[in-house]
Amino acid sequence: MVFENLRNKMIGMLRERGISDPGLLAAMGRVERHKFVPPGLEHQAYDDKALPIGFGQTISHPYTVALMTETLNLKKGEKVLEIGTGSGYQAAILAELGAQVFTIEKITALGQRAKLLLEGLGYSFVSRIGDGTLGWQTYAPYDAVIITAGAPVLPESLLSQVKSEGRLIIPIGSRSEQMLKLYQKRNNEIIIQDIEFLKFVPLTGKQGW
Ligand code: SAM
Repeated sequence: MVFENLRNKMIGMLRERGISDPGLLAAMGRVERHKFVPPGLEHQAYDDKALPIGFGQTISHPYTVALMTETLNLKKGEKVLEIGTGSGYQAAILAELGAQVFTIEKITALGQRAKLLLEGLGYSFVSRIGDGTLGWQTYAPYDAVIITAGAPVLPESLLSQVKSEGRLIIPIGSRSEQMLKLYQKRNNEIIIQDIEFLKFVPLTGKQGW
């Protein structure tokens, strides 16, 4: 009950900050974010802040998750590749929205922990450990790709694995601050849109830092 109240407050905060997609707000109202944070931090899980999840990594702000997901404008059944599984929270939101979720994490212990948690919660998804900057050719192309770590440049392999009418969202910039960018493929063109400045942990790897 306590967590449900905190979750409702979080949904109110997301509305105030401009998130309006009813399906997304309902999904974020269902996912128990406190199960995705380390023991002892549960009561902070619904505050609008990033929290440490070990190995120098974080679970992103609820607002960041909401903004990135809303911007992707997903339809049920779409194939989505996430780079940076982290806690598994973003993957849970994507699965709640009815997406076919593929997710890659570079840090073995985090990827394994998220897999166990997501399986325990009954989500269906496909995950692996590895360098997500190279994408996941086996299941390509994807309707959408979401990169949840800050990149120095756009990893070309990821854009090449997006469907011809698909989209990709990625924070690009310095190690300390990035611009969230949306890439949309349309009629053989790529439309690039700046969304908002945010702060992410670095995307490491062959086409990262
Ligand atoms: N989406 C996560 C969640 O819901 O908790 C938050 C992600 S955290 C901000 C960024 C994650 O990206 C970290 O877990 C980090 O280890 C991972 N990461 C960084 N570079 C990566 C790469 N090249 N491939 C896969 N994962 C990577």
